Order: sequence, then structure tokens, then C-alpha cells
Amino acid sequence: MKIIAVLYDDPVNGYPKTYARDGIPKIERYPDGQTVPTPKKIDFKPGQLLGCVSGELGLRKFLEDLGHTLIVTSDKDGANSVFERELPDADIVISQPFWPAYLTKERIAKARKLKLAITAGIGSDHVDLQAAIDRGITVTEITYCNSIGVAEHIVMMILALIRNYIPSYQWVIDQGWNIADCAERSYDLEGMHVGTVAAGHIGLAVLRRLKPFDVKLHYTERHRLPENIEKDLNLTYHPDVESMVRVCDVITINCPLHAETEHMFNDALISKMKRGSYIINTARGKICDREAIVRALESGQLAGYAGDVWFPQPPPKDHPWRTMPHHGMTPHIAGTSLPAQTRYAAGVREILECWFERRPIRDEYLIVDGGKLAGIGAHSYIAGDTTRGSEEATRFNS
Ligand code: NDP
Repeated sequence: MKIIAVLYDDPVNGYPKTYARDGIPKIERYPDGQTVPTPKKIDFKPGQLLGCVSGELGLRKFLEDLGHTLIVTSDKDGANSVFERELPDADIVISQPFWPAYLTKERIAKARKLKLAITAGIGSDHVDLQAAIDRGITVTEITYCNSIGVAEHIVMMILALIRNYIPSYQWVIDQGWNIADCAERSYDLEGMHVGTVAAGHIGLAVLRRLKPFDVKLHYTERHRLPENIEKDLNLTYHPDVESMVRVCDVITINCPLHAETEHMFNDALISKMKRGSYIINTARGKICDREAIVRALESGQLAGYAGDVWFPQPPPKDHPWRTMPHHGMTPHIAGTSLPAQTRYAAGVREILECWFERRPIRDEYLIVDGGKLAGIGAHSYIAGDTTRGSEEATRFNS
């Protein structure tokens, strides 16, 4: 079989020879009891950089020993990209949300042999799910592999925005001591109302981590959480996002991108938020309307916006989120820490072992299978296409 893995570029100074730490903590289960990936074997050292081109997700030996062909590239956008040229006879595509190989309807039509798309991470919105359903392509992701790390990233970003950390850090670099400049936008999280859109693995982990900050916690969800969790965290449930944003100071977005959540945060919804609210979006860039966010930061309706997800990825050099005021954006990194890479590389290997040996893939990894949404996909996604406009990613290099 021919397998294409689209991975992000190596570090600018080359593939690391040493690491900052000698290992990573050993985790066997996630908080709900689900086991971390359980491939029969791995050919990498936990803690290595695996998500870049030279890291190859640790798959080359495994695949070549079985007689398969592995193509690894970061060149993914545009008709002349290596990805698009290799796609017509590929059987399996592996991609990471951080550097997504957009599988649009047009590309799926060209990929006549494609049977399996693996997301090395969480979030398969870079695949036109409707086209995958229509073509009978199986779509999988490594559920839970990086959810806790993303929750940590969210707590970091909430605090960074509210306490005005990034501009204050900049005063240090600029050799200043400008206390008043730092303090004029600095607040405490204590006492604020914080709400999450979705309380899945990440949303619930954020709520749990924020409880000791003495904040008031809110959530909105399609399926309500069990009563004991609501009580333990003293949660206020909102049947819709509008009623939640009206009372919150901080909103964290933790739902998948699908047809129902695309551009959920538009001018209309943002105008219902309290003036001076903060949005933290580590879910997907397209859940927010790009221009509406910029307008709200410029007008003061939003006091800050942070996150690590953009549309498209990579965003063009002139993407307005790079330069809008009061932002705390990172490139898409929340879910690709070295421990997360260890888990999703192992998860990809587990899925491939199952596929080659015709064993069932875990239900919790399935998004689309057998011509319909399946497994966790049937629970968290709705069918449709959210890849429209992804061709703008070609502008990153121009
Ligand atoms: P989960 O599947 O555990 O949680 C997603 C939750 O979203 C589910 O509980 C689902 O609810 C809920 N949901 C779906 N649609 C809606 C809606 N319209 N309104 C409210 N809630 C909704 O996934 P995770 O928590 O692990 O991840 C969530 C998302 O975060 C991913 O889909 C991905 O886009 C993003 N992510 C980002 C990463 C990063 O590096 N920045 C890394 C990992 C994930 P229900 O089950 O009740 O339908």
C-alpha cells in the first residue's frame, strides 16, 4: 500500500540531537479510564519530536518492513504540491491538525484508491466528511491523545490575557519598567464568570482545572453532564450559547468544527457578550468569524482574544489575527507537545496495525466508517464540509 504522511517542517535549526528533558511522565489511562494507545510495538523513544518531517511519526521501519511505501512531506497546498501529486494512487493519508492536509471534495475525487484518512491528533474538520461518507472512506482520529494538554494551554491563555502577561513580558524585553502600562489592562480571574462551549474531554478538563481559582463556572452542551459533576464543580448549565455569553467574562471554545459550529462567534453573537469579555479559542479558527473578532477587539467589545487555531493553516502572512490588538495567539501547538506526539504517533500505529490485520479500530477513534458518521464521530460531529476556503493556505508561501 502507499501511505502519505503530511507533517510539519523540521525545526529551522535541524532535527534535535538532544532534548530539554530526559523523558516524559508515563500515563496509562485518561481521566475517564480510556487507555492510551496500545500498539503492539513502537519504534521511537517517547519524548522524541515525531510530528515533523524527519520524525515521520516513527512509522517508516514498521511500514517498510511490511512492504508498504511511505511518502512523508510538508508540501501540502496547491495543485503542484507533493501531497496533491502523490494523492491519486495513495491508499492511506495521515495528517495532523497543526499542519492539515485539507482533503477537499476535489482532492477526494482525485484520490481514487483512498480508503483511510488518519488524523494524528483530534479534529477531522480538514476532511470533507460528507465526501468521505459518500466515497466510503474511513476517517479516524486519536481521541483524547492531547485533550489534557490543550486544557492546560487554555488555562495558560486565560491567565495570560486577563493578567496582561504578554505586553508586560514585552516591557522586560524592551528594557522598560513600565508598571502603569502593564497594570492598566491587568485584572484578576478571581470572581469572574467563565463559560465553556462544549464540555467534552477538553471543556470538562478546563472546568476542573479552573475550580480552585474561585470563579463561577458555566457550560453549554448538546448532551448535559451528569448531575454529580454539575454539583461538584458548581456548574451553571445553559441550553444555548447566547444565554451563556451574556453572563460570562471569559468564554473558552471547545466544540469540534462542523456545519453547526462554523462561524458561531459572529458579529451577532459577540454583540450579546458583556463589553470587555475575553475569548479563548483552541478548538478551530473557523468557529469564529475572522473579521468579526478583529472588529470586536478594535471596538473594545472584546478585551482580548487568544488561541492557537486559525483558518486556513498555515495562515497567510497578512492574516489579520497576526496583528489585531490585544491578542495572545500562538501557532497551532496546544496539542502537539512532546508527550502528545508520543501518544498520537502510537495511536496512528495502533490504527494501522488494526487496518492491516483487518481487526476493528476502536470505536472511540472512528469519525466516519461504512459510509456514515461512526463511533465518537456520530456523537460529536454532524455530516458536512468545513474545508471551503482552505486553498487560501497556498498564500502562506507567497
Ligand atoms: P470531545 O469529542 O471530547 O468533545 C467535543 C464536545 O463538543 C462534545 O462533548 C460535543 O458534545 C460537543 N459539541 C459538539 N457540537 C456542539 C455544539 N454545537 N454546541 C455545543 N457543544 C457541542 O473532543 P475534545 O474535547 O477532545 O476536543 C474538542 C475539539 O478541540 C476538537 O474537536 C478539536 O477541534 C479541538 N482540539 C484542538 C487541539 C489543539 O491543539 N488546539 C487539540 C485537540 C483538540 P456532545 O458529545 O454532547 O455532542
